Amino acid sequence: MKILRPRVILLLLFLSSSALAVRTERLIDKWRPQHYLVNITLNDQLTEISSASACIYVRILKPTRVIDLDFGELTVDRVTLNSKLLEFTHKGEKLLVTLSEDVKTGDVLALTVDYHGKPKDGLVLTKDKDGHPAAVGDNWPNRVHHWIPTLDHPSAKAPITFNITVPANQEVVANGKLEHVETIATGQRTWTYTEGAPIPPYCMIIAVGRFAKVEALERAVTPLSYYVPLSERDLAPKGFSPGASVLDYFTNTVAPYPYEKLALIVGATRFGGMENSSAIVFTSNLFSRAAAPSIDMSRKFGVPSNNVSLIAHEIAHQWFGDSVTESTWSDLWLSEGFATYFAVLFVQRFEGEDAFRVSMNNAALAVFAYEKKKLVPIFDRDTENLMELLNANNYQKGAWVLHMLRSQLGDDVFFRGIRDYYSTHKNATASSEDLRAALEKASGKNLRAFFARWVYDSGHPQYELTWYWLGKREVRIVLTQRQPGNAFVDPIPVTITTADGKRDIVLKPTGKLFIERVPLRQKPTGIEVDPHNILLDETSIKGN
Ligand SMILES: [Zn+2]
Repeated sequence: MKILRPRVILLLLFLSSSALAVRTERLIDKWRPQHYLVNITLNDQLTEISSASACIYVRILKPTRVIDLDFGELTVDRVTLNSKLLEFTHKGEKLLVTLSEDVKTGDVLALTVDYHGKPKDGLVLTKDKDGHPAAVGDNWPNRVHHWIPTLDHPSAKAPITFNITVPANQEVVANGKLEHVETIATGQRTWTYTEGAPIPPYCMIIAVGRFAKVEALERAVTPLSYYVPLSERDLAPKGFSPGASVLDYFTNTVAPYPYEKLALIVGATRFGGMENSSAIVFTSNLFSRAAAPSIDMSRKFGVPSNNVSLIAHEIAHQWFGDSVTESTWSDLWLSEGFATYFAVLFVQRFEGEDAFRVSMNNAALAVFAYEKKKLVPIFDRDTENLMELLNANNYQKGAWVLHMLRSQLGDDVFFRGIRDYYSTHKNATASSEDLRAALEKASGKNLRAFFARWVYDSGHPQYELTWYWLGKREVRIVLTQRQPGNAFVDPIPVTITTADGKRDIVLKPTGKLFIERVPLRQKPTGIEVDPHNILLDETSIKGN
């Protein structure tokens, strides 16, 4: 009994910690994809993949005999390496390929998987709003493996070449540059697109359908075209008119556009927009949203303000999310928070300060509402259902974290840090710590405490400020933080109004209770906390 007891305790500890287990992610371990070459032939009705072969160039990272691909329910016809058949097992969305000989670290193998069938997900086989058949990729977060065998995790980035064979009346767009279109003996056409930059698997797409292809009227920093249902041909130039300005703005603010072209597509996506690298898909009701009479319209572009934000958001992802990709799902705010904030920056630049203030205010309200339901850090290692990560923490609170960093560091330092972060991690991945490192380098400041409280911990400051006029030319300010958990130590701008005018001070709280005495000639007539809204806070003020 005595010797068993510690074992029992250990087992219980193990059980209790596994009950609170952190999410396990599909990470790169024994091998990584280096390049995908994917050939897909669709049937005439675009209702299934009649044949496909994916050649995956695999770099071996550790000696192994098995390459474990993520692959859904399509029928695997054969797997080959240098034309030699390999054994495989295919179940539970895994394709385990057994290599016939030992491989060494550093070896690169060209594995080819031949397959066919009707994908359950990922490649959405549907009809466009005119009733024409369409096939559109929609993979976030890890649904690409339903139609392409992959290592289906955002960190496993690779370039991709598509050869898509479809009936001659179909238009095809995919990631990257259109290399050529070839008419083959059957009368079908094969479209070859190559995306030369490594992109996350969830961004790998094709879109096939009876699209009207419309070139942008505006000059853009990259070839910019629109793919819309035939009936929306005339709506596209105006509907997508913010695109060129967005590209221009982010190019000037961050870095040159990272890809070979940009296609803005109206098609099938379960999201409002999906940021596939160089081939963004927007929801099929994008243009019909303009018809509602009560909708808030952009003065600059004459389209719904929501559409301006959405277009700016998805294009911002080309830099943040697609080119610099989150290393783990816990770092998703580096994609969604950045896209949200950079869309708001575009709004600030083109629609003015009032629109900017409204956007940030709405973002704050979304965070407060979300935190009432779920109080977890932005850096969320626990949530199992990845769709639940599309929440106000990763979007609006992530945007607010960037806004607070910008406010606290100043525009010059902040944007220099962001540009450095981008160029360091371009075409690769980044973690929240990488962002901290870049901003620390730019500012010379230690941001550990800021990230610890805002990114790795939950909640927002709920300040209660009480002031007392002591009648001795001094006001005493008592600042209490009512939120659960630790104090926020961000500097808090405060404006005190007296008969003499306004006076700005900055409180630097050191804990949840903080007292400051401020010499003042006259009794305050009003005190305002965070007058320029640079903190994600809720505040109540009492005074006498
Ligand atoms: Zn997004």
